[in-house]
Amino acid sequence: MEHINKRLVNWASILDPASREQAEKTSRMPFVFPHVALMPDAHLGKGATVGSVIPTVGAIIPAAVGVDIGCGMIAVRTQFTGDEFRSRPLAPLRRAIEEAVPLSAGKYNRRLTDTARERVEALGRSAEESGFDPGSYAANWQLQLGSLGSGNHFIEVTHDETGQVWLFLHSGSRGVGNKIAQKHIRIAREQCGRRWIDLPDQDLAYLVEGEDEFWAYIREMRWAQRFAWLNREEMMDRVVGCVADWTGRDVERLETVNCHHNYTERETHFGKEVWLSRKGAINAEKDRPGLIPGSMGTASYVVVGKGNAVALNSSPHGAGREYSRSAARRRFNREDLRTAMVGIEYRDTDAFIDEIPAAYKDIDIVMRDAQGLVDIRHTLRQIVNVKG
Ligand code: 5GP
Ligand code: MN
Ligand code: MN
Repeated sequence: MEHINKRLVNWASILDPASREQAEKTSRMPFVFPHVALMPDAHLGKGATVGSVIPTVGAIIPAAVGVDIGCGMIAVRTQFTGDEFRSRPLAPLRRAIEEAVPLSAGKYNRRLTDTARERVEALGRSAEESGFDPGSYAANWQLQLGSLGSGNHFIEVTHDETGQVWLFLHSGSRGVGNKIAQKHIRIAREQCGRRWIDLPDQDLAYLVEGEDEFWAYIREMRWAQRFAWLNREEMMDRVVGCVADWTGRDVERLETVNCHHNYTERETHFGKEVWLSRKGAINAEKDRPGLIPGSMGTASYVVVGKGNAVALNSSPHGAGREYSRSAARRRFNREDLRTAMVGIEYRDTDAFIDEIPAAYKDIDIVMRDAQGLVDIRHTLRQIVNVKG
């Protein structure tokens, strides 16, 4: 742990100068209290650094949550062992999952499943209570529930160090959450522009607590967070269904962990109530379970928080990118990816070259940096990987 300045504390031993500078800019915003905490997986983001925790008083920066409001992970521990899975061809299971969980609404997600309908109805009611219409952001928002998204959103069948199988997936609030975020980032810019505020970066535009625009953002952001949470539950139900069909047995859910890593919550830190925005960070308060994915070919972790006060009860949310997508595409090829994915059932395509494990920071170093933030409970290894 290193104090970069009075308002910025850093846990990343791998940190490029641009990300450091970006985090410094954020930390100098006058309403940051007590300081920005930079996580071991920190890397450049839009406006605010991915892998940073930004506590604010009296104002909020919509870009401090990012455009995928509520993005996060869900994991379920089952009764199966990895050996039971590996004793049969895995490609049919992978294809069944790919079919059950479409990447986007539309072509495949044409009608609501029964579980999706209940979730969509609950979301509809809560939007109504909040006084806004999600349909004004995305006409098909209902059909977006149960869709994975692209990029590094993923679904995995994994086993832990005891051999037990965990189902594991990563996704957020999809198109509707993205539209909500974009709109409020734009409004924050307009608000700051109207007051002639000289921002160090346009994406650090903020909303002032007490104003209507502020509360509208809070309400819609909270809704998007709920959408993301239920979206992960819905997809997990479908993955569990695929596993039940494939094994011919009921799936026992022995344990479930669901956690956001892009979100804002009211929390108390250093004696003050703040708006705590975690952008690529998870809640690691004492004894809280959390999930830290590595990459498509390296280990992932089920962790439990240590409640590190200076780290604002937070921990990394992944390995974090070391190479941008374009740099990774220049540097690595499909053969490199194949080598990294030996023994894992995945779809062999050029599309995932920029997701090669080597494009991310070394997860072992990240977890070492995070020693004071979380304890590792389980180490997960892929059997099947499905990428968005
Ligand atoms: P983000 O939420 O910032 O988009 O990324 C979350 C993290 O997930 C990344 O930093 C990376 O460490 C991890 N990750 C990306 N793709 C995969 C994957 O296919 N499998 C697993 N287990 N982890 C991944
Ligand atoms: Mn996301
Ligand atoms: Mn994410």
